[in-house]
Amino acid sequence: MAKMKAAVILNPGGEFEIQEREIPQSGPDEIRIKVAACGICHGDELVRHGGFPGLSYPRVPGHEVAGVVDEVGSAVTEWKKGDRVGVGWHGGHCFVCDPCRRGDFLKCEKAAITGITRDGGYQEYILARHEAVALIPEGLEYADAGPLMCAGVTTFNSLRHIGAKIGDLVGILGIGGLGHLGIQYAAKAGYRVVAIGRGAENEALAKKLGAFAYINTKTANAAEELKKLGGAKVILGTAPNAKVMTDVIDGLGVDGKLLVVGAPHEPMEVSAIQLLAARRAIQGWPAGTAMDSQDTLEFSRYAGVRPMIEKYPLEKVKEAYERMISGKVEFRVVLTM
Ligand SMILES: [Zn+2]
Ligand SMILES: [Zn+2]
Repeated sequence: MAKMKAAVILNPGGEFEIQEREIPQSGPDEIRIKVAACGICHGDELVRHGGFPGLSYPRVPGHEVAGVVDEVGSAVTEWKKGDRVGVGWHGGHCFVCDPCRRGDFLKCEKAAITGITRDGGYQEYILARHEAVALIPEGLEYADAGPLMCAGVTTFNSLRHIGAKIGDLVGILGIGGLGHLGIQYAAKAGYRVVAIGRGAENEALAKKLGAFAYINTKTANAAEELKKLGGAKVILGTAPNAKVMTDVIDGLGVDGKLLVVGAPHEPMEVSAIQLLAARRAIQGWPAGTAMDSQDTLEFSRYAGVRPMIEKYPLEKVKEAYERMISGKVEFRVVLTM
């Protein structure tokens, strides 16, 4: 049997180990992808820490997968060898539970999660369920497509469902892996984009990416500044800090929404008056299905939206991972095979 390399976590709290494994064979409803690139995401920390429902070990993390179809299961009709494809967090669904029967595949009661309940993309070949696969358009490189399968679809798909219209004031809170993509999508969608970050160092970049204004929370009160601009229709909360998220709520205008896509560990505190005063709401949004990812990839190609990345070979997974999780990178790290 032919062999491949895989970066594996053997147990909770463990370090990465590069293993030689047999190249797996696809089941009837799976495809095998020769991985070209896989982004590293803060979500991969779940594998290192353990405790997530459905997670078992050893496990190969990675849910920002991009590559080429290499083998197709006997029951698969929509993919063929040579297709350029991506796989994200949503790793497949059962089609028969109540949420699936309603068409809400993301909320499937038996949903597979790439890199959590199934092995992910930190390896040279991955098996993916056929319904969890998105087509990568020509003109989009694998290393760019990887992060778009999680950070990209999370910001693109949440923004397009939240009800902001062309010309609305939209705040992007946090200039990081999610935020730098959120600014681009929001600007290309025709919103008036205000970037909100800590420190002056990201102002020039935020404006280059499409923001017309930048609020530095070190020197200004973000809620007050947003009010001066008329109040935001939506604030995309990408910062992994509950206090930072709730501090901006008063900067939302009438019917404004705080759209939560970052995941602080601590609870968020908000007073009823803050919500009642202007019919404000707080809503979370988790990524999307394979088709949502495909829409994200297509729009990114069309509109010229790209993640800012650093590439590392799979063998340097420890270094790459440390670079990403420490937050030193601007803004995503991608493993290449
Ligand atoms: Zn992710
Ligand atoms: Zn289901």
